[in-house]
Amino acid sequence: MNILILNCGSSSIKYKLFKMDQNTVLARGVVERIGLTGSQLRYRAGGKNDLVDAKPVPGHREALEMILQTLISGGHGVIGNLKEIDAVGHRVVHGGEYFQQPVAVDNNVLELLEECSQLAPLHNPPNIMGIKVCRQLIPHAAQVAVFDTAFHQTIPDYAYMYAIPYKYYREHKIRKYGFHGTSHKYVSRRAAELADETVKKLKIITCHLGNGASLCAIDGDRSVDTTMGFTPLAGVIMGTRCGDVDPAIVDYMSGIEGITGAEVLEILNKHSGVLGLSGLSSDFRDLEQAALEGHPRARLALDMFIYSIAKNIGALIAALGGLDALVFTAGIGENSPGVRAGICSKLNYMGILLDDGKNSTSGEETLISTSDSLVQVFVIPTDEEKMIAEETKTAASNLTYK
Ligand code: AMP
Repeated sequence: MNILILNCGSSSIKYKLFKMDQNTVLARGVVERIGLTGSQLRYRAGGKNDLVDAKPVPGHREALEMILQTLISGGHGVIGNLKEIDAVGHRVVHGGEYFQQPVAVDNNVLELLEECSQLAPLHNPPNIMGIKVCRQLIPHAAQVAVFDTAFHQTIPDYAYMYAIPYKYYREHKIRKYGFHGTSHKYVSRRAAELADETVKKLKIITCHLGNGASLCAIDGDRSVDTTMGFTPLAGVIMGTRCGDVDPAIVDYMSGIEGITGAEVLEILNKHSGVLGLSGLSSDFRDLEQAALEGHPRARLALDMFIYSIAKNIGALIAALGGLDALVFTAGIGENSPGVRAGICSKLNYMGILLDDGKNSTSGEETLISTSDSLVQVFVIPTDEEKMIAEETKTAASNLTYK
């Protein structure tokens, strides 16, 4: 079974073609700068030369046509014809309260997805566009939507509600949704496999620390709380996002700057976090180097990031009533021993102990805690595409009309 995974953004489409029976990736790449100058397709397939095809790509339809044509092309192709694509798994950011699982897309599902666009106006529309175009270009293939929010639909009401008048939930669906669900699910299941224990028995906290960052408390394979909220702006400090702040700041900043609430949100989303604090960079490699060289605000940004995560881990341990495993993933979680050590050193009193030698690892699955640590601590590279492919396979296999 061949499954194509698509992540359609506003100006880019990332893709990966999996051969599921052999657990291999046949081809992967991205079409960048769709509808802008300098658009190009990048393509990589095992045993073939890498391809960069720079030409105008006016829209998502043309981008998807380019991807599909390359997959079957004489020189670079990896399949004989498009009929060999059995299913397409689409990453969809927001499934609202409608979707707790991946779903095979029909007209009814498309309508609900459009409705969810209100909650993710930047992300859902290009996701939906990808689904619609694929239904036209490869109508024989099952189209499956896999949601960033779905894994968190098991969070109980006392954890997902905000203490604002109830009508805002009832009439406008304002509540915590949480994001990065596919990543949290993937790494928590891998942690259980590495711990040689069934995931149903474990209490796990997963720390997805990349440009966007969120933590998730998982009890027996179910998300019971997470740090992001109604939007991905909430929770821990991130690269350019502020994380949790007093909401009264929005009106106050709007007054002093003479700008709208939307403009304040732009500052909180794009110019805050460790970038705003340091005035230097949102990239942790730059910040760690600058801190070593004595840059005080780079040090402050790192200290605040580490503090914010350790504090939220404490809160999630309370939500779980215990902890068996702690997992670090994504760009920073996988690659920064310093950040991991900083966080875990604040949790020593809970019996979380790192092995400094093992913690020097970067980018590979490793148990980094000592043998006498009460909690097993893992570094696990996330693989959202693989998880989406597996979920797509399950959803496509369940289709009654196949
Ligand atoms: P992601 O969003 O998962 O791709 O993560 C991107 C972030 O990972 C970058 O902004 C960097 O801050 C961080 N990162 C990547 N490599 C390293 C590294 N070797 N050390 C520290 N941080 C890193």
